[in-house]
Amino acid sequence: MSDWRRWHHEAVIVDGHMDTFYKELEEGRSWFRPQRKWHIDFARLRKSGTDLQICAIYTPPQFEGGAATVWASRMINRVFEAEKAAPRQIRVIRRRAELDLPAGVTGLLVSIEGGLPLDGKLDMLDWFHNTGVRAMGLTHNPRNLLADGASVKRARGLTAFGKAVVRRMDELHMVLDVAHLHLAGFKDAIRIARGPIVSSHTGLCRFHDRPRNLTDWQVKKIAETGGVIAIDYLTEHLTGGPKPASYRDVVDNIEAVAEMVGVDHAALGSDFDGYHSVTTGLEDVTGIPNITRELVRRGWGERDVKKVLGGNYLRVLRAVLA
Ligand SMILES: [Zn+2]
Repeated sequence: MSDWRRWHHEAVIVDGHMDTFYKELEEGRSWFRPQRKWHIDFARLRKSGTDLQICAIYTPPQFEGGAATVWASRMINRVFEAEKAAPRQIRVIRRRAELDLPAGVTGLLVSIEGGLPLDGKLDMLDWFHNTGVRAMGLTHNPRNLLADGASVKRARGLTAFGKAVVRRMDELHMVLDVAHLHLAGFKDAIRIARGPIVSSHTGLCRFHDRPRNLTDWQVKKIAETGGVIAIDYLTEHLTGGPKPASYRDVVDNIEAVAEMVGVDHAALGSDFDGYHSVTTGLEDVTGIPNITRELVRRGWGERDVKKVLGGNYLRVLRAVLA
């Protein structure tokens, strides 16, 4: 076995963001069956070598109030049902100790994407935590009761409720995700949060300058918390197009993070099943080994490759989860 194949095989691979359970709920299909039009189904996730997959619970903006709570709850339930259907192969991670996965077990960690399902009520955060949710991003692209997302013009910082949520997430040992959050809210979040924070799926402004991507300053601030910047695989984030991005662009972004703030803060956050464009060499989840091979081709050593593939993300999860 070549070095890169062995390192890929040995590495604990962690991905910061997939939307496959959104697909499940939207289309009424199961990821246990082959789903060729999706980036991920369970068989291909296993084949990719992914050990721990963070599962996004995305609620579209047309859901308001209790309807958002119901939608998100149904999607979270699909994650638990997956664990129930394959208990020897899937473990939903709720506690730090559960991060030490037995061989052959895929870890899933539930992360709410955007605070709509809280419906403006702090005890709903506790409720979701009680069900097993261990991470949350405050917004999607629009404004909600917590903060403004990246697409909002003349954005404000966190609302009083948003600030209370960040403080309560600290107390509950939940991972704070700043992906999609507008810079204005980011500044508040970084000041209030105590633990390491993540951007679970993002590109960098130095490659494509847009509000959804992270500026160099934001990268430095996340690194200062001990957190990770997880690079996603969308052309519109990686390069801005027009030609499709490839796994090499993902590696360019990873290397830029490593150059700016050190290798300890770069990670993977595919956004698989959350977008429709095609990324060369990452057409689906089984393309992840191309990232490993490219890192090694560029001279990366074993330790650093394994950090980027999952070691860094795992460090953050260990630091935050109770
Ligand atoms: Zn997203």
